[in-house]
Amino acid sequence: MMNKTRHANVALFVPHAGCPHQCSFCNQRHIAGAQAVPSDEAVRAACEEALRTRRAGVDAQIAFFGGSFTAIDRDDMERLLAAAYPYVKRGDFSGIRISTRPDAIDEERLAVLKAYGVTTVELGAQSMDDAVLRRCHRGHTANDVERAAELIRNAGFSLGLQMMTGLPLDTDDGAFCTAERLAALSPDEVRIYPTLVVEGTPLAEEYRAGTYQPQTLEQAVSLCARLLTFFEEERHIPVIRLGLHAEESLFEHCLAGPVHPAFRELCESRLFREKIAALLKKENATVLTVRVHPSCVSRAVGHRRENHTWFCDRGYSVTIQADEAVAYGEIKRGEVVT
Ligand code: SF4
Repeated sequence: MMNKTRHANVALFVPHAGCPHQCSFCNQRHIAGAQAVPSDEAVRAACEEALRTRRAGVDAQIAFFGGSFTAIDRDDMERLLAAAYPYVKRGDFSGIRISTRPDAIDEERLAVLKAYGVTTVELGAQSMDDAVLRRCHRGHTANDVERAAELIRNAGFSLGLQMMTGLPLDTDDGAFCTAERLAALSPDEVRIYPTLVVEGTPLAEEYRAGTYQPQTLEQAVSLCARLLTFFEEERHIPVIRLGLHAEESLFEHCLAGPVHPAFRELCESRLFREKIAALLKKENATVLTVRVHPSCVSRAVGHRRENHTWFCDRGYSVTIQADEAVAYGEIKRGEVVT
C-alpha cells in the first residue's frame, strides 16, 4: 500500500450526452436526464469555491468526470475546457483531468486537450478480455485500449486506467490478466471498480433474469485486495480509487453487488490481516504484538474490528501498536510469545 498524497480535486460531472454506447452496467443514460452538461459559470463557480475552501499544501486538479469527455459535442468540450484553463494558467490548480472511452481518443482530440491545459487522461478500459467487453456491449476492444494509451503517452499526458471486477464472463484469473495488460501500458495511476448492479441498466435485467450474478462483498474484497498488492507493491502503480465514491448517486440506485462505503478500507484491512496471519505462522506464535504506522492502526484492527475478531475466533491474541518508524502499509513484529 502506498502512502497517499492529499488531493482536493474540483469534480465536475459531465453526463455522457455524446456517448454512442450503452454499456450493460452503466446507468448514465438513466440518470443523465436529470443532469445537464455544466455551464461555464458552473465550472468557474466550482473552481472559485474550491479556492476559497482549500487547505494550504493540498494539491488539486480540475476533474471532468462522466466517462466520455472526448465524445461529447466538440463545442461543449472546448467551452468547458476554456472555462477551466485560466485557473490552471494562473497556477491555482495543478492541471485538468478528464476521463473517456478508448475509442474516443485520437491525435486531433488530444491536441485540443493539450491546448487547454489538460494534464491527465483517464481511460475506461474495464477489461482486457474482448469476450467480456463484447458481453458488456462496451463497443471497443482491448487493442483499442492499447492504441489509445500509446497515443496519450506519446502526446505527453499522464495516463490513468480504470478496470472493473466481476463483469459478466470475467473471473479472478481474467481480472489478473487485465491487470497485467494494463500494468504493461505503464499507467501513472489506476482505478478499480467492482461491478454493481444498478437500476435501469441492461445488467439489472440480466440480474433479475438470473443470467448474471454479481460478486459477493467477500469475493470482491478478496480479489481487489490482491489487485491492490499487484499494482502498488509489485508494480509501484498507485491505485487512486478502489470502489465507488461513497457519495456517488449510483449507491442510491444500486440493486445488488459488492457495495460498501469503505470498500478500500476493507481491502487494506484484508492485506493487514494476511500479513499478520503470515507472521503468526512464521513465528509459530499464538500471541503477538504488531507495530504499524500510526495512520494504519484502524486498518490493521479492521473495519469494525473485523481483523481483531477474525484472530480471536481462531485462538490468536494480536495487539496492534502505532509506531512512526514503520512504513505505511507494512507491519513489524513486536514481542513474540509462543
Ligand atoms: S462508455 Fe462510459 S458513459 Fe458510455 S455507456 Fe459505457 S460506461 Fe457509460
